[in-house]
Amino acid sequence: APLLSVQGVTLRYRTKDHLITATYRVSFDVYRSDRFVIVGPSGCGKSTLLKAVGGYLPTVEGQIRLNNQEIARPGPDRVMVFQEFDQLLPWKTVKENVVFALTASGRLERKAAEEKAMHYIDKVNLSGFADSLPHTLSGGMKQRVAIARGMAMEPEILLMDEPFAALDALTRAKMQEELLQLWEDTRFTVLFVTHSIPEAVRIGSRILLLSPHPGQVRAELNSDGIDA
Ligand code: ADP
Ligand code: ADP
Repeated sequence: APLLSVQGVTLRYRTKDHLITATYRVSFDVYRSDRFVIVGPSGCGKSTLLKAVGGYLPTVEGQIRLNNQEIARPGPDRVMVFQEFDQLLPWKTVKENVVFALTASGRLERKAAEEKAMHYIDKVNLSGFADSLPHTLSGGMKQRVAIARGMAMEPEILLMDEPFAALDALTRAKMQEELLQLWEDTRFTVLFVTHSIPEAVRIGSRILLLSPHPGQVRAELNSDGIDA
């Protein structure tokens, strides 16, 4: 059975006078240890899909199931890594950023959290920077910390939203390579979103190409705010 099953999912945003259909009847299955990539042009609904898998958006139609349980809200079984470099707490060291993520949920004691944090910081080759503050690191290094933090939480699936998009081309290529090595080592399940087809081909074990225009892109709302 798939780890994650997305079946016939439609997602919408409601603005003042429109319903915007961000994804229309999208289906895909992610199996354990897949490197599943969703690729498509800007605005095709990639981030929206990832947010829904994260549990941050309700589905209008269709179902999202993880381990055969319908996803209702965010949970530690799905951890997100974003594009931005500022997803780390700037006043905490690399190690403390990871430790904080592990202890905040109350699931781990400090000692165990520290050990786990160092294990994953080492996996992204940053053990020499465990006591550094984020602003002293390069963009690529910050993203590696964010990946280490995500992996340390040992989610069922790591959700990566354009994690390398803000990096220069050379660093980006290095990070793709490093992610693949990390995957060889750990076989974690990853759902990765990108607008770059070369990146999708490089990273993905399976690839879903989303069309730029979902069906029913816009529905006018009448004066009562109801789908007209
Ligand atoms: P992608 O990640 O592929 O670039 P998004 O999921 O961000 O695409 O956006 C899909 C569609 O939903 C776009 O048409 C976008 O303009 C729209 N959209 C995204 N976020 C919002 C929002 N908060 N409110 C209204 N429309 C939104
Ligand atoms: P960018 O600045 O392009 O994001 P990188 O993340 O590749 O670049 O790293 C920038 C600098 O930091 C490079 O000079 C690199 O040698 C150094 N660096 C990166 N990771 C490590 C590491 N694990 N150990 C030592 N130095 C590192």
